[in-house]
Amino acid sequence: MSVAEERIERLADLAGEAARSGAEELARRYVRRARRIAERNRLSLPKRITRFSCDRCDAYLRPGHNARVRTRNGHVVVTCACGEHARYPY
Ligand SMILES: [Zn+2]
Repeated sequence: MSVAEERIERLADLAGEAARSGAEELARRYVRRARRIAERNRLSLPKRITRFSCDRCDAYLRPGHNARVRTRNGHVVVTCACGEHARYPY
């Protein structure tokens, strides 16, 4: 694992911890930092960021807190508090 990948993993952990402790703005900053490092290094983001962060506002999503999750027609639809939807096949 490269240094950049390790940093991204660490930031994903920190974002999750911050979100769980209710520090949403802090979690958002960690998500943004992870995204920036991934872009700069052409790396893909860990699944917990791609699935649990908002593409529009960078919030780290916690179903039942700042996100709603529904299943519809073979897709999982995650709706952020900002109104952005993301859908994934399952
Ligand atoms: Zn959002």
